[in-house]
Amino acid sequence: MVVGIIGGGASGMAAALAAAEDKRVQVVLFERQARLGRKLQATGNGRCNLSNLHAGAWAYHGDDAAFASPALQAFDVSKTLEWFQGLGLFTVAEPSGKVYPYSDQANSVVDVLRFALEQDNITLELGFEVARLRRRDAGFSVESAERSVFCDRVIIACGGLAGSKLGGSMAGYQLLRSMGHRMTKLRPALVQLKCAWGGVAALKGVRANCRAAILHDGILHAESVGEIQFTEYGLSGPVIFEVSRDACQGRGNWSCRLDFLPDITEEVLQAELNRRTKTLLPTEELLTGILHNRLGRVLTKSSGISGSRMVSSLTDHEIRGVCAAVKSFEIGLTEPLGMDSAQVTAGGIVTNEFDPLTMESRLVPGLFACGEVLDIDGDCGGYNLQWAWSSGRCAGLSAGRREYDQN
Ligand SMILES: Cc1cc2nc3c(=O)[nH]c(=O)nc-3n(C[C@H](O)[C@H](O)[C@H](O)COP(=O)(O)OP(=O)(O)OC[C@H]3O[C@@H](n4cnc5c(N)ncnc54)[C@H](O)[C@@H]3O)c2cc1C
Repeated sequence: MVVGIIGGGASGMAAALAAAEDKRVQVVLFERQARLGRKLQATGNGRCNLSNLHAGAWAYHGDDAAFASPALQAFDVSKTLEWFQGLGLFTVAEPSGKVYPYSDQANSVVDVLRFALEQDNITLELGFEVARLRRRDAGFSVESAERSVFCDRVIIACGGLAGSKLGGSMAGYQLLRSMGHRMTKLRPALVQLKCAWGGVAALKGVRANCRAAILHDGILHAESVGEIQFTEYGLSGPVIFEVSRDACQGRGNWSCRLDFLPDITEEVLQAELNRRTKTLLPTEELLTGILHNRLGRVLTKSSGISGSRMVSSLTDHEIRGVCAAVKSFEIGLTEPLGMDSAQVTAGGIVTNEFDPLTMESRLVPGLFACGEVLDIDGDCGGYNLQWAWSSGRCAGLSAGRREYDQN
């Protein structure tokens, strides 16, 4: 039996290794790029945050997020880490639960997968861009512009639209739609947010720990604590990725409220600033030692205090204004940065058209899908790759096992 896997990214490589465990199965892995795992290599800022010790159903989203649970439970974090260890990858977890390769290099993850794929019953078809999938006899014809390959079973592991420079594309959605599947609206997730505030450019490159709350018409949409990074046009960093899902979608006013001292109360801050009014500091140094210098100056100025004054001249009211700017700074948002810059695609192929225990299509027997192409996306922190490993393994084992079960 030949199992064709379209897409040599995270989920496709996991699927290929799982399907190939039965040596009677011939696996063909089609990858349109010249190399496997190109996006994987860029993950986690080149470090590859490959899983998270705290992974659970709560970290996943989609019209039916519960679809992800059986695969995530069957191949959970500990089994995934054992599997990687078996492939020769040493891993280490940060206190946050984020798991990285011990080498701190995403390359290591791609390499151990690549080496593991060197098996007699696995054929790599690199540079093979699948343009069309057709039902043929009891199987499928997998076709590029030049060639076609017959496969008894096919797994679509083409990933999502996010990160197009690294291989994100519409291909997987189109192939599955050509087989009769439907898809939900695609939105960028884990993405930077553009803002309407002119002051942001002065903070370009500044990082800060904060509580970030996304508000839609003043109502809380999402909230998290972590690192923010200011960019030329808006807000980035892990905490923004965490709260970015579905931000700025639909009508109404979107804003981000930032608390730059999430662990310190306004009273404590106020007491410290009042103490500083007895010193000879200029106001531009009011928040020195508390926040990043540039951030401190921008926040002081934004509360209407000019840098040429002395701290000793500030009134109670002005000190309270600075405290409010530090603890509750609201920035108007315009839009997410776009699919190119997003780490993951929210939305995708409708999951209730697949069996969550096998990842097999309920519409087309012998057709499977896994990874980001399905309407499942995870939070920031290794959850998306965990879904790729778990769903990929589930699809690979099921596709490889079917004929075996039938005989
Ligand atoms: C910059 C960036 C950083 C990220 N960092 C992290 C992180 O640290 N941790 C985390 O959990 N997640 C991270 N993600 C998300 C994660 O990389 C994806 O969710 C995951 O790779 C999805 O796996 P996949 O197998 O579904 O798709 P992919 O890994 O995207 O693989 C799909 C593959 O299919 C190939 N393909 C597509 N169409 C065709 C076709 N027609 N024919 C043949 N081949 C085709 C593509 O070239 C690609 O190699 C990051 C994403 C980006 C963009």
